[in-house]
Amino acid sequence: MRKPIVAGNWKMHKTAEEAVDLAQAIAPLVAPSLTSCDVVLCPTYTSLGAVHGVIGGSGIGLGAQNMHWEGEGAYTGDISPAMILTSGCAYVILGHSERRQYALESDEMINRKTLAALAAGLTPIVCIGEQLEQREAGRVEEIVIGQVRAALEDVEVDRAPSIVLAYEPVWAIGTGKTATAGQAEEVHALIRSFLTERFGREAADAMRIQYGGSVKAENAEELFSQENIDGGLIGGAALQADSFAAIVKAAK
Ligand code: PEP
Repeated sequence: MRKPIVAGNWKMHKTAEEAVDLAQAIAPLVAPSLTSCDVVLCPTYTSLGAVHGVIGGSGIGLGAQNMHWEGEGAYTGDISPAMILTSGCAYVILGHSERRQYALESDEMINRKTLAALAAGLTPIVCIGEQLEQREAGRVEEIVIGQVRAALEDVEVDRAPSIVLAYEPVWAIGTGKTATAGQAEEVHALIRSFLTERFGREAADAMRIQYGGSVKAENAEELFSQENIDGGLIGGAALQADSFAAIVKAAK
């Protein structure tokens, strides 16, 4: 019922030239999957225009990795929704755990960004996830649902289906430790049930929840076959065309 969505988060990797090469290698490999899976590439800001030149019109989506919530102003080093939109983006990753950790982004900032993305016509990919100590202390539900609730404050029901959530347990990002399919599905089901309470069944059933955290070709199929897992947000394995394409293929 929900079309899966697989997004590659290239983080602070690849110059514009390297990003073009990677996009060129990925495009033909994922083309056959585009009818059954949305595919999004998220290079760094300086490569957005160049990558758009490669994938524009191909059906592959382009996403930024962050943005400011204001339309313009004295925010040195920041970038606005209109700037990424006019670079060809339809998507923007918000609240990635690395932004929460290194740029001290709060739930409130992520909520402002989410509302600004929706207002600009961008699809936000809103990241949530617990840290290892929080999991060990039995606080997964409290942390993750708290983050979802805060990020989606003031979102109206009719906008909810265009939001993508990415559940990324922080302990699984870039560590090679993937949540088991069962662990991930358990949290995705909790998120879905919160969304049902918050927006009603119809909207909640339409919302896609990606899993992220050391997804590779070898574990993607089992993760993506879970009822409430609608594709993935991929870091390390998105930096090689073959491994990214194999993950896309696993999402049906
Ligand atoms: C990410 O950065 O969103 C991510 C999931 O990274 P990795 O796949 O490398 O764990």
